[in-house]
Amino acid sequence: MSGPGTRFVYSPRYAADIGDHVFPTRKFSLTAGRLRGQGELVEPEPAAREDLLLAHEEAWVDKVLSGRMPLADEVLMEMPFSPAVSLAHRLQAGGTLLAARHALERGVGLHVGGGSHHAFADHAEGFCVLNDIACAIMKVLSEGRVRRAAVVDLDVHQGNGTAAIFRTRPEVFTFSMHQESIYPFAKEKGSLDVGLPDGAGDQEYLSLLEKHLPRVFEHEPELVVYQAGADVAEGDLLGGLRLTAEGILQRDSVVCACCRLRRIPLVVTLGGGYSADIDRTADIHAATLRLAAEQDVG
Ligand SMILES: [Zn+2]
Repeated sequence: MSGPGTRFVYSPRYAADIGDHVFPTRKFSLTAGRLRGQGELVEPEPAAREDLLLAHEEAWVDKVLSGRMPLADEVLMEMPFSPAVSLAHRLQAGGTLLAARHALERGVGLHVGGGSHHAFADHAEGFCVLNDIACAIMKVLSEGRVRRAAVVDLDVHQGNGTAAIFRTRPEVFTFSMHQESIYPFAKEKGSLDVGLPDGAGDQEYLSLLEKHLPRVFEHEPELVVYQAGADVAEGDLLGGLRLTAEGILQRDSVVCACCRLRRIPLVVTLGGGYSADIDRTADIHAATLRLAAEQDVG
C-alpha cells in the first residue's frame, strides 16, 4: 500500500518555463501535490553524461548539455530550449533511472515525470529531449542487474524514439499501443505495435490491451518500464481517443496486475497529457501512481 514507505521520484525543477505552450510543465508539481502525505518525494540527480551516452549519440548529448540548440533541432523538439529545459530533461532521465533502482529493490518505482518516448539517439522530437526510458534500461542492462527488459508504452502517441533506439537490441521488447492516425506520422517499428482507430473508447481499448499485452511477458522481461500517458483521455487536445478516467485506471490496473502476478519489477513514468483542464491531467497521473504504489513492498 502507499504510505510512509512509498517513494515518489520528483523534482520541482522538472517544470522548466517554456512560455505559453500546449505542454503543461506545471502538471508535474500539480501531480506531486496530489501525492503529498501518501509517500516521500525523493529528488533525483541529473543523469550522468556517461549514462546518457548509453542511449544517445555523443554529438546530441553535447548539444543538450551545452544548454544551446540549433534552430533546426528546436523545430523538431516543438518547444523552446534553454539551460533550464536541458536541466529538467537531464533530471528526468536521472529520475527514471532512480525509479528503476527503486523497482529492482522494492518491486515498483514511481516517477512523477519521465516517459520522453519521442527522443531519438541523435535528436529531439515532440517535447522529448532525452529518452529517459532508454537510458534507464540501458544502464541496468549494462550493470548486469537485468538480462531482459520491456517497455509498455500506452501513451496515445507511438513510442517512436524508444522503438528506434532499441531496434538492434533484442534483449529489450518494445510494445506500443497508440492512436494510428496522429503524430508520429511515420511510425518506427517496435517489437509490437498496435494502432487504434480514432475515437476508440474504454471497451475497445481494454479488450485490445488484454489481447496483446501477454506478448510482452513471453519475452520474460526482468524489468518493465511503463509509459502511462494520460493523453488517451477523452477530450485531450493532442489525442483523439475516448477513454474515461475509470477506463484509464483499468488500463493501469491491467499492466500492474500482469507485473505483480509474475513478480516483475515495474517502473511507472507519466508520459503525455494535454487536457485543456490541467487539473484533469494531474488527477489521471496521480491516480496511476497511487494504483502502482499498491505494489510497493518496501
Ligand atoms: Zn503523447
